[in-house]
Amino acid sequence: MYGLDLATLPKVQLHCHLEGTVRAETFRALAAKYDIPLGERADPAQTYDFATFREFLLLFAKVTEALREPDDFARIARDYVADAAAQGVRYAEVFVSPSVWSFFHRELNVRATVEAIRAALDEAGGPLGIEVALIADLTRNFGVERAERSAGEAVTLRDLGVIGIGLGGDEANYPPEQYERAFAIAREGGLHGVAHAGEAAGPESVRAAVEVLRAERIGHGVRAIEDPAVVALLAERRIPLEICPTSNRLTGAAPAGAIHPLGALDAAGCIVTIDADDPALFGTTLLDEYRYVAETFGEDTVLRFARNGIDASFAAPATKARLHALERSRNSVPAGRIS
Ligand SMILES: [Zn+2]
Repeated sequence: MYGLDLATLPKVQLHCHLEGTVRAETFRALAAKYDIPLGERADPAQTYDFATFREFLLLFAKVTEALREPDDFARIARDYVADAAAQGVRYAEVFVSPSVWSFFHRELNVRATVEAIRAALDEAGGPLGIEVALIADLTRNFGVERAERSAGEAVTLRDLGVIGIGLGGDEANYPPEQYERAFAIAREGGLHGVAHAGEAAGPESVRAAVEVLRAERIGHGVRAIEDPAVVALLAERRIPLEICPTSNRLTGAAPAGAIHPLGALDAAGCIVTIDADDPALFGTTLLDEYRYVAETFGEDTVLRFARNGIDASFAAPATKARLHALERSRNSVPAGRIS
């Protein structure tokens, strides 16, 4: 062991939902501002309670319901950058869910909202040396037609740093195959495509995300482990997995009380990256996730996953080179505890 300083290790974030980073006190303040009844959630000890994946999706929706104006989004974007900087994040591709915003607030101007987020990310991120791109999540449970419209809308937001589309939401009831056209619309419009799969559904969902949607990365993908042929497919095609250990444990995607299957996926040749998904809602941080991986699988492994994150990102080659150089230079700083 060489005493890897996990806090300052330069990190890339590839699976973090902006609406899932809202601090509990901010959510309560916004709910008060808009007179949204919180019931038991008004209690700080219960603000972000949930018991099942379905309840989690409802909580995510509730938080999004409290975000009503571009200013609210600018506020959470600034907070996100501050929190990310404190954990060593240097580059991020963050999910936003405009179709959920519009579901709750039809009058919300999506473009103006993304503009507000962009400005906040750039203003707060610039001085801290963090670059943040956006991925517009289509949210599968609004159906195929809405997803196709959302994909077209995402293409019009490219000038604001929207670089791709994602597919989150209710995976068990909305299989990937339905969104083939939405992904084609995005691809033809110059966007990347990633998809949550193998989280609330099994390996067949991961296979469809890869083969039908041509997803370039898989969010979670942990349940691929149930089918060696799907694990082999991910390894062969070099499709990175965005693994979020605490999220997987709390939603039931990975068995609680057992070692996370990320080690087995890694051993089978899959490209593993680490993230925190909805850190505020799951009561975790990116750093906590890195610590868990370091403690369970070792420092060499977590360092390798951090490097995987750089390579698995959609950053420009020059940005990737800069991030790798930053990570390497970290090793040349005498820490006084190298053994
Ligand atoms: Zn997610």
